[in-house]
Amino acid sequence: MSKEPGFSSVVIVAGGSGRRMGRPKQMLPLGGKPVLVRTIQAFKQVPSVRQIVVVTPSCNWPEVLKYISDVEFTDPGATRLESVKNGFACVDKSAQIVAVHDGARPLVNPTHIGDCLQAAQTYGAAVLAVPVKDTVKVAENEFVARTLDRNTLWAAQTPQAYRREVLQRALEEFGSQKDATDESQLVEKTGVKVRLVPSDYANNKITTPEDLIFAEALVNKQVIYRTGLGFDLHRLEPGRKLFIGGAEIAHTKGFLGHSDGDVVLHALCDALLGALCEGEIGILFPPTDPSIKGICSVDIAKKVLGIVRRRGAEIEHIDATLITEEPKIKPHYDAVRKSLANVFEIPLEKVSFKSKSHEKVGEIGRGEAAMCHAVATVKITNRETI
Ligand code: MG
Repeated sequence: MSKEPGFSSVVIVAGGSGRRMGRPKQMLPLGGKPVLVRTIQAFKQVPSVRQIVVVTPSCNWPEVLKYISDVEFTDPGATRLESVKNGFACVDKSAQIVAVHDGARPLVNPTHIGDCLQAAQTYGAAVLAVPVKDTVKVAENEFVARTLDRNTLWAAQTPQAYRREVLQRALEEFGSQKDATDESQLVEKTGVKVRLVPSDYANNKITTPEDLIFAEALVNKQVIYRTGLGFDLHRLEPGRKLFIGGAEIAHTKGFLGHSDGDVVLHALCDALLGALCEGEIGILFPPTDPSIKGICSVDIAKKVLGIVRRRGAEIEHIDATLITEEPKIKPHYDAVRKSLANVFEIPLEKVSFKSKSHEKVGEIGRGEAAMCHAVATVKITNRETI
């Protein structure tokens, strides 16, 4: 990472032993990746973050490096505050803003990270926080001593970000306070006012086994849509069967090809593969392979559907436009749509199919060939497969 003056550094503290979880919580899998890896990846998405220092035992370093490069590591201390100090010692001297983040908060929103860094730049110190949902009681000898006014209460999260000199002064003057549960307490003692930056409740610290279950549900809920484009053209030859979108249409000509030449299925398969960056059907089914000569295009589509499913994706919508002079396609719209819904195993309302003539222009206009343009949109619900 290039480190021009004014950049932000983040210290990610992941030194915990996982007393409550049985093993270090930061290395537990969440949606297929260690919690700590997801945490680091959130900061990788923030443009102003140019240095990431991960404070974690050296036994965790190789596992993190399987997923991420360009991070720096240092060993944790005996307490959280000692770990923060170790991380701060590794921070580049030209960093203007230094943020501290819990390694066990993997679902921090990168936009909120950016908000926090910006607020630190403006106010000197800032923490992400959410309004407290529960009514909070102060206890004395197992009885309620008093009830706090919930409207004034915020739960502090991380990152907590500071102008470099603000954090440095707080660590130097109050860094021996072993009971401090976050750095902003130390900064508050120096007299700097800490700005509250609204966050969300997904930025929870994974501390107990049920926290991990909630986090897993949130990861799996995250949905990404991708769209791909497909195109195909085949010659029309007399005496061959005509297949359009897997439906056999009565006509005097059919598509010439290594397979049955179904341009609509071929274009849609390429669109689906395009949405997943998986190449094109010529790679999966090389026209030079004699073993697949005469292959039914429905078999090609089923193989592509298998790839879609292996990637944790589902087909959200397909749309194909067949450009041909003959036969007239409009009477077959319903049959082709039903066939496509059947081949791709999706409801009819997710299938669009239409046709255009080529106004008697060129080879397509003379009925010597037909072509198809297609788009496909897939929904990916498991981020691990992206
Ligand atoms: Mg083709």
